[in-house]
Amino acid sequence: MKCRDYIFQLTSGQLEDAGTVTQIAAWQHRMICWRCRAFTRNDAALQDMLKGYGDHLQTPQTPPAEPSDN
Ligand SMILES: [Zn+2]
Repeated sequence: MKCRDYIFQLTSGQLEDAGTVTQIAAWQHRMICWRCRAFTRNDAALQDMLKGYGDHLQTPQTPPAEPSDN
């Protein structure tokens, strides 16, 4: 498996649905390739961040109190 294949499968979500052989190949690639390891971590962090951001957007916010010291 090459970096391009790995990244494509990861970002397209195909890796989750892939068979055992592909998942083992992906795992082996992560073991030998620190770039894809870092990318996988960043991708997971990004997903978490976007998820948290979505929750944040759905939560109504109370505006901060106006300062009344004029
Ligand atoms: Zn790689």
